[in-house]
Order: sequence, then C-alpha cells, then structure tokens
Amino acid sequence: MSTEEKKKLNFIEQIVHNDIEMNKHEGRVHTRFPPEPNGYLHIGHAKSICLNFGLANSYGGKTNLRFDDTNPTKEETEYVDAIKKDVEWLGFKWEGTELYASDYFEELYQFAEKLIKDGKAFVDDSSVEEIRAMRGTPTVPMTPSPNRDRSVEENLALFRGMRAGKYEEGSRVLRAKISLTSPNMHLRDPIMYRILFAHHHRTGDAWCIYPMYDYAHGQSDSIEKITHSICTLEFENHRPLYKWFIKHLEIFPSRQIEFARLNLNYTVMSKRRLLRLVEEGLVTGWDDPRMPTISGLRRRGYSPASIRNFATRVGVAKRDNVIDLSLLEFSVREDLNKTAPRVMGVLDPIKLVITNYPEEKTEDLTIVNNPEDESMGSRTIPFSKHLYIERTDFMEDPPKKFFRLGPGRNVRLKGAYIIHCEDFVKDENGEVSEVHATYYPDSRSGSDTSGVKSKGVLHFVSQKEAVPVEVRLYDRLFNVEAPLGHEDKDFTEFLNKDSLTVIKNALVEPSLKDAKPGDRFQFMRMGYFCVDPDSTDEHLVFNRTVTLKDGWKKK
Ligand code: ATP
Ligand code: MG
Repeated sequence: MSTEEKKKLNFIEQIVHNDIEMNKHEGRVHTRFPPEPNGYLHIGHAKSICLNFGLANSYGGKTNLRFDDTNPTKEETEYVDAIKKDVEWLGFKWEGTELYASDYFEELYQFAEKLIKDGKAFVDDSSVEEIRAMRGTPTVPMTPSPNRDRSVEENLALFRGMRAGKYEEGSRVLRAKISLTSPNMHLRDPIMYRILFAHHHRTGDAWCIYPMYDYAHGQSDSIEKITHSICTLEFENHRPLYKWFIKHLEIFPSRQIEFARLNLNYTVMSKRRLLRLVEEGLVTGWDDPRMPTISGLRRRGYSPASIRNFATRVGVAKRDNVIDLSLLEFSVREDLNKTAPRVMGVLDPIKLVITNYPEEKTEDLTIVNNPEDESMGSRTIPFSKHLYIERTDFMEDPPKKFFRLGPGRNVRLKGAYIIHCEDFVKDENGEVSEVHATYYPDSRSGSDTSGVKSKGVLHFVSQKEAVPVEVRLYDRLFNVEAPLGHEDKDFTEFLNKDSLTVIKNALVEPSLKDAKPGDRFQFMRMGYFCVDPDSTDEHLVFNRTVTLKDGWKKK
C-alpha cells in the first residue's frame, strides 16, 4: 500500500493495517459485535456493526456476534432474535453461530478462582453502598475494605459458598485487589461478581452469582481470541482494568480500540430511553417508523445499503460529535433515487375533469419505471376523462411563479397530455371541489406535435382505476435538536406532537394494487414510500420514508 493510500485509512484501519504488516497474531483480523440483549438495535449500533464487519471484510477476517448477556434481569430472548434479524438485514454474516458471554460463565468463574489463588481477588462482606462510600475520589485514596487481607483459603471457601448459594443477595461480592490510590477509579478494587438469585434467559437457575460487565467483557474477547476489540469512547478508561485482567490471567491479549459513538440530533439513542418510549406507549413499538432503531428505519423504508452508506459517510472519529439527521435522509434518498420505481400517488386528491375527452375512453400510457435505470423497465397507467390531482397543485389565483394549475394556465400531466385549465367548482364550504380543463390531443408525451408550451408537470391518477390507500407521514420524533441534558425537563417533554400524520384517503395508480410490505417506491414529487406491514390484501398502508429534496426537474 502506498503512503497516499495509507493516509486515506481511518485511524482504526491504520492500526489494523500496521498490525497485519507486523504479522501480529499471524496477520489475523477477528472482530466482534457484542450487543447486550436488553433492547432493539439502533442506528448507533448499525454504525458499530458496519465498522466491525466492514473491517473483517476488508482484511479477510472474521466477525463474531456475541451477546453480552451477563445481566440476567434485563435480558430477553425477544431481543436476541431481533438483534440477529437486524444484523442479517444489514447484510452481514457472523462467524459460525452466535455466541453468548453466558457460555463462558464456567470459564470466567475459573479465572476468578485463579485470581483468588494468586492473591489478586478477595471476597468482601461489604454492601455495594458501603463499597461506594469507601471509594474516595481521584485525589482521595480509597478506604481499604476490612476484608481486603483475607487469606486465600478463606476467600476460596467464601467464593465457592457464594456460588453454592449459601449467602443472601447483596451480602458479599468478589473484588479484584488492585489499588487503593489509582486516580483511575476503575482500578480501585473493582467488583467482579455479585450474588443474584435471578433466572437467566440461557443458563436458567444454574448460577446465583453473576460477573460484572467489566470483568466479563474483556475476558470474553480473550476467550474468542478477538484481535481488535472495538468499542466506544466511554470505555477508554476501563482499558487499564481490562489489561490488568489479561495480564494476571495470562490470556489472549485482545487490543481494545475506542471510537466516538454516533449521536444524531432530534432523537435519543440509548436502549434504556427507547425502552421508555415503548413502555410508556409514546410510540407504537420498537419498530415504530419514527424510532431510530434499525427495525424502525426498516419499517420506515430505509434500505440496508442506505444505512451502510450512511455509516461510511459518517466515518470514525476520536471525539464525540453530533450528526445531522439530514445526512441520514440524504443517504436514503441517494439510494432510493436509483432503486425505487417511480409511481404516481395523490395524497390530497381533488377531481380534475378533462371536458373535451370522451366519456368512456381509457388510454394506457407507457411510463418508464425509473429514468435512472433502464433495466427497471416500464409499465402502463390509465388515462381518462375523470382524474385526480394533488389539491396543492391547483390555485384559484396563482402567483406568476406557480408553474402548476390555475385558471387559464397550461400544465403537462406526467406521461400524458398538456391540459389547459378552463374553470373550477366550489363546494358549499367554499373549497375547490373540482377543476375543469381541456386537453390538447396532439400533445401526448413522446409524440407531442402540438407546439403548445407548458412549464410544470403534474402527477395524477385516473378516478376509476385509482386504489385508495392509507398514507402515514412522519416528522422528527423530537422538537429540539438535543432532547437530553435539560436539568428540569424529562426528554419525553420534547416529543413532537405532530410527528405522525395519517391520511386515510390517498389514491395511488393501479400498478400498486399488489404491492407487498417492504416494497419501496418513489411517489413522484411526494417522496419515497414503503408498504407497511399493517397492510392487508384489501387495504394498503404506506409509510413515507422521506420527502424528495426537489420536485421534478423538467425533462
Ligand atoms: P445503549 O446505550 O444504546 O444501550 P450500549 O453501548 O449500552 O448502547 P450495547 O448493546 O452494549 O449498547 O452495544 C453493543 C455495541 O454497539 C458496543 O460495542 C457499543 O460500543 C456499540 N454502540 C452502542 N451505541 C453506539 C453508538 N451510538 N455509536 C456507535 N456504537 C455504538
Ligand atoms: Mg449497555
């Protein structure tokens, strides 16, 4: 690799690259994605997934999927299944079957006994609160536990008693014996095991002591011989502790590398908070299309490629930053622009009558599905005397720059004819209910010999064939860029009350009749839409993924 190419690598790729050059671990690259199964994955996890699997893919390595399921009280099988589905959907394949930190409980227990035997761990009869009170501050040393100098024999007997269920929950813990004075608080005799009479989703009631995350996590990486353990910045000052365990257990030295977590504005991203939105019924579920979860984005219509491209575009940083939601939207537009068929759907219909068009006649117009990609072919749409157009595409008294419909104005109907607006009708409430126009018979798209000028192009559907559908429009979940960190206000107070608008009576062209949940389309001029799983054969429901940035550019 040239120096120029090397410069283009991000800092993690540089580390991996150098390790390979130095033949560290025989040039192996083995990463892992280690979610805790206590909620559904969100877009921040997607970033981490793309990074870990992406590194392995670039360097001929492997990636494990390991559930960090050391905390029995918050974890559920539902989450395990959802996480597997999301990783696969994003397009990644983990090495072998999925792994569980809980599979290492016995090995971790034996590691702990080794530390006890080496005088590096002790059983403390203090409560967690007492331990916290003795901890000191970075400049004030910790008060040593009265049990710190117990004999190896006594420690072993007590720890085995803990495992055997002899002691009450909260009555004892196992602690590493590291330091009373380190300014790194994680090194001040951290807790390794606690007693919990809790049922675990995989090990059942086999255990009544559970390892702390900080004890289990690094060792799990070592057991799997992970070469590069990538994690987020908040674990940077846990690294000395992980290294201490590795050194004293003489186990495989996985290298931890920290990067800045992904933050997005106008949303929240921790599972704990997302769980609150779900539990308090503030959203319809983990996969509510307004949620920043992978399942929510999928339901909303995001494609796996759009999320992967977003992750690449965001890059990896060493400092915390906040990414603008518009970058995520840009990524999905960019992808769907190329891949989604363009169809016509009218969200707020108003009748349009072509007065000089024969009453019974219907023409089938051929329209290409996506001008960006010829291989996507074409389809026909019906044209007739009675149509619907978008209410906002007509103005009774339009300003000059309004290139849509108004009395006396010309406009082209997409793939069809140029029409001339003659008149309009109002209902008893004074609202325009019907627009009347004449068409120029020799102005048909593709064979226009009329010489008639028109500026705008409008989408439409034919009344008789139109398919009524429900459309759900979304806005940001929160009203403010940063819903967290307000001293006197809970983040839920910043929820956007107008984040969902339901349109019950939208109309789409008949080619969409057999669309299936997950199918994505561009509704010309109205945005990108995806069929929602709430749909039935009789009644389609569409989610708007994102609006189009621009209206049609005239061709
Ligand atoms: P949360 O606070 O949402 O629960 P977490 O870090 O506790 O996040 P884990 O299940 O422990 O969630 O995370 C699995 C992996 O995903 C970890 O390696 C973690 O570093 C990474 N991760 C989590 N959130 C983000 C984020 N916002 N940006 C990048 N990576 C993330
Ligand atoms: Mg967590």
